[in-house]
Amino acid sequence: MSGRDEPLGLLGGTFDPVHYGHLRLAEEAREALDLAGVRWLPAGRPPHRQAPRVAAAHRLEMVRQAVSGNPAFTVDDAETASGEPSYTVTTLERVRAEQGSRPLVLLMGADAFLGLATWHRWREILALTHIGVAARPGFELSPEALPAELAAACADRLGADAGVLGAAPAGCVVQFAMTPLAISASLLRARLAAGLSARYLLPDPVREYIDRHHLYRATDGR
Ligand code: ATP
Repeated sequence: MSGRDEPLGLLGGTFDPVHYGHLRLAEEAREALDLAGVRWLPAGRPPHRQAPRVAAAHRLEMVRQAVSGNPAFTVDDAETASGEPSYTVTTLERVRAEQGSRPLVLLMGADAFLGLATWHRWREILALTHIGVAARPGFELSPEALPAELAAACADRLGADAGVLGAAPAGCVVQFAMTPLAISASLLRARLAAGLSARYLLPDPVREYIDRHHLYRATDGR
């Protein structure tokens, strides 16, 4: 397979802020799913959840700092640059148009996958990309834990091993194990607002960026 045909991982999120849970998810997905690389897609205005705590430009810059030095990671700023709500399906249509029939693998933690059936045009997402789901502490991924319509939509797609991803552009759902890390951006925001340390939960350049811009304090500069 030429580099261009190898599966490309896509990792969306608010990254408010980016942390080691995200970085290990991307790194371990790359290995477990044999991805050519992972493209990070920070959301601008996520429509189906509370507005992010800090501005898109800061979240984008923190992701840039976090991934710099890893040649397998790239950052896509289209969602943060646009003032429009960030719908994953729209982003996938754009990436699909750009990548032709290359296999795409949308990466997410188990919590995000459990909520997939609430996403805008979610059934179309399954037709545009494969999905790689990482185990996440605190979130049960057994078939019984899946909402019924998601379980039904995935019945013929689930459980396939990573080898299938390179054989088709889209349509499979693959689970993979990653080093369990019970780190979340909510936990980090709470720690920072309380004046507690975030050290060793996210990369130092991100922590320094947060300090420099006075982000996530009880009264921050946004
Ligand atoms: P918040 O606490 O604000 O909800 P978060 O830490 O879940 O944020 P997001 O930006 O919402 O971060 O997550 C982006 C993606 O990364 C999601 O698919 C989420 O499931 C996944 N993810 C985040 N943290 C982890 C983790 N510790 N382990 C596995 N997956 C994770």
